[in-house]
Amino acid sequence: MLDPLPLELRLPLSQRSARSYWLVTFGCQMNKADSEQIATLLEARGLVMAASLDLADLVVFMTCCVRERADERLFGQVASLGRSDQIICVGGCIGERDGEALKAELPNLSYVFGTAALGQGYDSSAVRREHPWAAWLPIITGCDNFCSYCIVPYVRGRERSKPFAEVLEEVERLRADGVQELTLLGQNVNSYGRDLYGQPRFAELLRAVAASGVPRIRFTTSHPKDLSEATIAAFAELDNVMPALHLAVQSGSDRVLAAMGRHYTRQHYLDLVRRLQAACQDSGKGRIALSTDIIVGFPGESEEDFEATMELVEAVGYSQVFTFIYSRRPGTKAAELSDDTPHQQIQARFNRLLALVQEQAYAANQAEFDQILPVLFEGASKRDPQMLSGRSPRNQTVHAPLPTGAAPADFAGKIALVQISEAKTWYLKGRLV
Ligand code: SF4
Repeated sequence: MLDPLPLELRLPLSQRSARSYWLVTFGCQMNKADSEQIATLLEARGLVMAASLDLADLVVFMTCCVRERADERLFGQVASLGRSDQIICVGGCIGERDGEALKAELPNLSYVFGTAALGQGYDSSAVRREHPWAAWLPIITGCDNFCSYCIVPYVRGRERSKPFAEVLEEVERLRADGVQELTLLGQNVNSYGRDLYGQPRFAELLRAVAASGVPRIRFTTSHPKDLSEATIAAFAELDNVMPALHLAVQSGSDRVLAAMGRHYTRQHYLDLVRRLQAACQDSGKGRIALSTDIIVGFPGESEEDFEATMELVEAVGYSQVFTFIYSRRPGTKAAELSDDTPHQQIQARFNRLLALVQEQAYAANQAEFDQILPVLFEGASKRDPQMLSGRSPRNQTVHAPLPTGAAPADFAGKIALVQISEAKTWYLKGRLV
């Protein structure tokens, strides 16, 4: 049983005299948004971010249980913490899934909390953001889809949308606070409003959010079965909705899609892509950068099924693909399926897909050669302090040399034009114009 009190009340920090904290975040953007909220709660209680994990009085792990590897990393990291006076907390999806039972495996763990601990109705505009100019805004939590391989509906619960007026109030506060890029978040943003009887749905929300005037708006994640015509139209027409869309396909084989419980076919997905591309061409938005997730080696996936995935990837032409080898998650329907495909064979499929994906990422970046792109800069590049780093509208990483006499901070959070002179697989390079 998990403690139902809000996090700030459950951490008796004053008794433990914790002064500093460290947050380790695994998994998706929902966890990143939750981590920002935790940092805000802790700082409101007077804690400051420590210089490193080892020096922190309080360490919070925000966890993900979508893949087995994330479990292993968490266990390894928690077990290796050596200070007996450190307060160690585990939250997020593993906290929700395992609850207090985690303490039996990790004796140095002080607190466990689940995904509901932070409450649904918190004000995202009031949280401490990693970059003051970029904000994540959760608009819907949970998922009703129960894809057969996924644990999310069990750990994040059913879909719950944030009321329309509340979202718009938060957007207004973020805009007034100087936010340049806003990402609307949810496991399935397309079903926004379905649980709020009589309230506007996602397409209307997107139009209202865009009308706020925040310069860049993105949203993630979209489920292909719920991406409506109204959303496609809004996406294509709204200038400040960026021309990049993540549309998780998972497989190109109808047989595998059915076994995954995705509720769409390969043809439905390809039609959606064509309609999106056509709508964006017609509206003048131009080329969309499509990204996706693909699982290789789902139980029972044959060579033929995998070829169908390769063909779909060829047909769509993605800018980015997040590729995963199937990972069995206890508690899901797919965990009961058996498969005798040798791991080597699955790895070989995965490598073939990766090579294709890299080829496509390179081609997508090559298409920007010589173009002048508005880049939202984050500051100096991690590798070279004389180089600025930022993101293009299609979400590509762009580097540009720092002008003489300027400081990276002068550019942080600002949008400036860059002419692209070099296009590699993972980044673009150019000069400020
Ligand atoms: S849509 Fe499917 S994969 Fe995505 S969170 Fe919901 S159940 Fe999981």
